[in-house]
Amino acid sequence: MINAITCFIKRLFMIDIIKGYARTFSYMFRRKVTLDYPKQKGPTSPLFRGEHALLRYSNGEERCIACKLCEAVCPARAITIEAEMREDGSRRATRYDIDMTKCIFCGLCQEACPVEAIIEGPNAEYATETHEELLYDKKKLLANGDIMAEVKHDRD
Ligand code: SF4
Ligand code: SF4
Repeated sequence: MINAITCFIKRLFMIDIIKGYARTFSYMFRRKVTLDYPKQKGPTSPLFRGEHALLRYSNGEERCIACKLCEAVCPARAITIEAEMREDGSRRATRYDIDMTKCIFCGLCQEACPVEAIIEGPNAEYATETHEELLYDKKKLLANGDIMAEVKHDRD
């Protein structure tokens, strides 16, 4: 009986609704824990492994020597490399593909690379609308590296 009366009074004076509004109102004056993404972005760990890139030396020469260590170590078999010898005797990749839909971002490719050619940069904003757009080729990976070099140059 007492419970029924309490419930009736609560409903009559909309106690629960008022409590809810009061709780909402109290949060208006607290420090926000959410971000207005993409205008605001949170900090990224220096250990974050994001979108892949192929780097060049400062003279523009590709770092990759097509040793295929990254291809061999990749547990997801996401990397495909084809190579040829240049006239000057240096070895370079004629094909360097990464299927980003297979990649598990383990970082083993960059760990294995003896010349720091393949890296996983800080970029995490590369969502696409199609599967094909995530099949990266050498041109795309080198372009990613060039963008990273530009950003680093502007920062320095
Ligand atoms: S991060 Fe790992 S899974 Fe992705 S390409 Fe490199 S080795 Fe393969
Ligand atoms: S990216 Fe590095 S590990 Fe992979 S083939 Fe090129 S030089 Fe070798």
